[in-house]
Amino acid sequence: MTIHPQELAGRPVIVGAGLAGLIAALTLAPRPVVVATKAPLGLDAASGWALGGVAAAVLPGDAPALHAADTIAAGAGLCDPAVVERIVGAAPAAIDELLRLGVPFDRDARGRLLASLEAAHGRPRVLHIGGDTSGREIMKAVIAAVQATPSITLLQAEAHRLIAGSRIEGVALVRDGASFTLPTGLVLLATGGLGGLWRHTTNPPGAIGQGPALAARLGAPLVDLEFMQFHPTALDTGADPMPLASEAIRGDGAILVDEAGRRFMADVPRAELAPRDVVARAVWAELQAGRRVFLDGTRAIGARFPNRFPAVTAVCLAAGIDPVTMPIPIRPAAHYHMGGIQTDARGRTGLDGLWAAGECASTGLHGANRLASNSLLEAIVMGQAAARDMADAEGMTAARTADIPAPPTDAEGLGEIRRLLSAHVGVLRDADGLGRAIRGLGPIVERQSAASAPALVALMMAVAALDRTESRGSHTRTDHPGLGAGPARRLPLTAADAARRLASLREQGFAA
Ligand SMILES: Cc1cc2nc3c(=O)[nH]c(=O)nc-3n(C[C@H](O)[C@H](O)[C@H](O)COP(=O)(O)OP(=O)(O)OC[C@H]3O[C@@H](n4cnc5c(N)ncnc54)[C@H](O)[C@@H]3O)c2cc1C
Repeated sequence: MTIHPQELAGRPVIVGAGLAGLIAALTLAPRPVVVATKAPLGLDAASGWALGGVAAAVLPGDAPALHAADTIAAGAGLCDPAVVERIVGAAPAAIDELLRLGVPFDRDARGRLLASLEAAHGRPRVLHIGGDTSGREIMKAVIAAVQATPSITLLQAEAHRLIAGSRIEGVALVRDGASFTLPTGLVLLATGGLGGLWRHTTNPPGAIGQGPALAARLGAPLVDLEFMQFHPTALDTGADPMPLASEAIRGDGAILVDEAGRRFMADVPRAELAPRDVVARAVWAELQAGRRVFLDGTRAIGARFPNRFPAVTAVCLAAGIDPVTMPIPIRPAAHYHMGGIQTDARGRTGLDGLWAAGECASTGLHGANRLASNSLLEAIVMGQAAARDMADAEGMTAARTADIPAPPTDAEGLGEIRRLLSAHVGVLRDADGLGRAIRGLGPIVERQSAASAPALVALMMAVAALDRTESRGSHTRTDHPGLGAGPARRLPLTAADAARRLASLREQGFAA
């Protein structure tokens, strides 16, 4: 396809083609919109990798109020209750929308929707497709709808800079090494998560936080950055990224054991179905003590494994593990970022013309710890909300082109970020390690390569983690165990705040 940016000038631009970006594009239809994505459609989007499904209170006996209560309990005091109520309240309509798009949710023999029980949910509430191929099936239906919508122009290109004065004026993108700009007054960032910045991760390789970096460079605040959810049960078979042994496996009764077969979570409230941060710390403690950890579904699931969890069965078999008869080796891995670009109920970022939705945004739904399967839900509800608001704002277009060369690639810089975050900003943190991370990330931010954007977000995460002198949700400080004495509050941070903290740490002569 030949790109003629001038032909697309003035159209709203969505950066990212995961669930949030594509649902937003469909919501905007029939208004013309450009979806720019750095990978071919359907690849490199975590949405297609989701296994468990979508949380929604639609089964008899369940109610949005119960879903909200579970979300708030998992969020460890930092959820915004109004946001929670609004998003989980919109879940039944989000499921209806997916059904309308043809998503074939699993049903029982009488045609009723089936739901799994996942950690920290009070009842089975996670709707799934094909057992554990939920994301793939959802994205298949959504992509088909996008491809059948002529008002949506798909552009395979990577956004590397936003052009803005007092408001958004364009996006600089790179494709096949050539940089060009799309002049537009309306941009939605839907770039997904940033788990790819850790060595052990379940995220696609492109999940490196470019959306938050684009926004932060314009001064937009990021919030809840210190809260990275480490999934307790990534398959420990040496693959990068690591395949996931989904939570629904524990929901079906699989247990966590050490190499001697000891069930080390037996005495913890809710045992293997405790919130993810609790399970991740317990698994981490076992690994730190030099023991290997396994997910054992042989008794509870046994011969049902291949039908119930076909995707996990396939990756296990490829690694020489038969989950019907053998425990599966696991370890925690960076999985979901609760933090991101601070947004309001309409997905607005505070900068005129810039919206954010999906994992790159932070609405206040998840607090300090996401409740399992609330993220696909949020991607749908907030993708729709942002698109409706953009449609209302369509009059305000200010568009400008600019000649902004793409930064040089920097695989070494990215490798160093992964090393620093894995060593110092992992399941357990302390002030000394966080200071080392900040000091090490500073030069990568400053060298103006392609690694500078993810390094900026990584630096801001380390600063936020240093500033939160307590242990809450997924953020555990070994030097500050327990909750802090002050009120629970979210900590918005700008790039300028982070630069000041770096400068002051350098003045104090922190050792790298
Ligand atoms: C293995 C796994 C299993 C999961 N299981 C579940 C589950 O069962 N239920 C649940 O609710 N959640 C689950 N999650 C989380 C959930 O999948 C994500 O939070 C959600 O899909 C995020 O959607 P998104 O649209 O924000 O981002 P994504 O789906 O990740 O899409 C991001 C898009 O942005 C593009 N992009 C990024 N940067 C740029 C750039 N600079 N320029 C252009 N394009 C860019 C990417 O190529 C991609 O197209 C899981 C995550 C993983 C990794």
